[in-house]
Amino acid sequence: MNMKQISEHVFQCEFELDVTVDIRIPVHIWLIRNGEDVYIIDTGIECFSDDLIKAVLSIGTPKAILLTHGHNDHIKGAAKLIEKFNIPIYAHQKELIYINGEAPYPKKNDLENTGVANVVEPLKEQTLAHLPIQYYLTPGHSPGHVVYYHEKDQILLSGDLFITSHEDLHPPIRKFSDINENIDSGAIIDKIKPTLICSSHGKNLPYDDRLYKKYVWNYRD
Ligand SMILES: [Zn+2]
Repeated sequence: MNMKQISEHVFQCEFELDVTVDIRIPVHIWLIRNGEDVYIIDTGIECFSDDLIKAVLSIGTPKAILLTHGHNDHIKGAAKLIEKFNIPIYAHQKELIYINGEAPYPKKNDLENTGVANVVEPLKEQTLAHLPIQYYLTPGHSPGHVVYYHEKDQILLSGDLFITSHEDLHPPIRKFSDINENIDSGAIIDKIKPTLICSSHGKNLPYDDRLYKKYVWNYRD
C-alpha cells in the first residue's frame, strides 16, 4: 500500500488487486481529514484492511465510511473496518437493496454477499452537512453510484464513474454498466469543475472543459 497526500485534506491510499494471474489493477481508497476526524471513502477488499487501518490511525480518528457503491472491490473491506472502528457506514439509498443482498445488481445473477447487509445506512443531506464534502448521485455503473466532492480542496473522488488516464476519461467496465446512463452521469464534472478528478482504478486527472466532450464523442452510442 502506498499513501500520498493529494491536497490539504485528502489522502489517497493505493492498493493493487490481482484480477487474473497477469492483470493487476490499482484500487484507490481515500481518507478525508477534517480537523482530527477521518472519513474513509470506500474500503477495498478484506486483505487491504490491516494496512488501511494503520493508514487511518496515522492521520486521525475514524468517524465514518462513505461508499461510492457496493461492488466487491469497494465494499469487501468494510466489515473488518467497522469491527475495528465501530463507526457508521453510508451509501446511497438506491444501492442498499444490492448491498443487503435483497436483489442482484442489474446484469448479474447472484445476490451480493457484502458482509455488511443491513448495516449500511442511507446517505442523507444531513449526513455530510457539517463537512466540506458533497455527494452526487451518478447512476449507470451501478444504480446508486455516487461521487464525493471536497469543495474546499476541489477534489472529485469519482469512484467507478470513469477510469481515468493522465489525459483522458474512459468508461468503467461495460459488462455490468448501463453505459449510456453512466456517460450521462459523467456530465457532473462540467457542473462541478473540480481541480482534480481521482478515480478508483485510474490516474489522477486535472480537469479541463474539453474532457467530457471528448469522452462523449469517443464512447456514447
Ligand atoms: Zn464498481
